Amino acid sequence: MSLIEINEVRKSFGTNEVLKGITIAIEPGEVVAVIGKSGSGKSTLLRCINGLESIDAGSITVAGAQLRPDEAHLRQLRLKVGMIFQQFNLFPHLTAGANVMLSQTVVKKTPKGEAERIARAMLDRVGLAEKFDAYPDQLSGGQQQRTAIARALAMQPIALLCDEITSALDPELVSEVLAVVRGLAADGMTLVMVTHEMKFARDVCNRVVFMHQGRVHEIGPPDKIFAEPATPELQQFLGVQS
Ligand code: ADP
Ligand code: MG
Repeated sequence: MSLIEINEVRKSFGTNEVLKGITIAIEPGEVVAVIGKSGSGKSTLLRCINGLESIDAGSITVAGAQLRPDEAHLRQLRLKVGMIFQQFNLFPHLTAGANVMLSQTVVKKTPKGEAERIARAMLDRVGLAEKFDAYPDQLSGGQQQRTAIARALAMQPIALLCDEITSALDPELVSEVLAVVRGLAADGMTLVMVTHEMKFARDVCNRVVFMHQGRVHEIGPPDKIFAEPATPELQQFLGVQS
């Protein structure tokens, strides 16, 4: 069985059908890039996988458990599937360490000592061992985003969903965040990444999903998607002259 099974998923906002029957199966350890124009439904798809949006039809199964719309189940799901956003959403009045400890102690009821041990280990993993006591405004954007990654990792997720996590960063800070993601991929983390970093997608991802108008328009290994885009829509998106 796949780790994440998305089957014929449909989602509308009012009369606007945003996801028009999405089917993707993601294997454990797979790194999947999701690309496509603004408005094609990429963020909505990630939010559905994480249970932040309900779906209108179809099914999503994560680690063998099908998503149900009840709150208790969705809370459980969000514990298992981490999500990282363009905006880092750190609490400004808490240190990096406290930010990484918070959801562990509040949501998972991890004892404080254990949560601190995990927080230190996760900050170390993203290269911020020395920043445990730093406040977000003392950190660069790249360091803040790495703290957000450490916070997600501290929950020991079975998969991480990343929604344009480098889009708010100054160009010189993008590579340090991508290096962390590259490390997670090498360690076998299952990753689904909405990204504009085509070189990264090409180098690191096992598969690329091209979304267009709420559908999976093309899907395949990066070599195929980037070197031999089959449809005019993907060719145009990639800026290929045809
Ligand atoms: P992408 O991430 O590919 O840019 P989104 O998934 O954010 O696309 O949005 C797809 C479509 O869904 C857009 O037309 C957007 O306006 C609409 N949409 C997204 N979220 C909401 C919402 N909460 N309420 C109403 N419309 C939404
Ligand atoms: Mg989006």
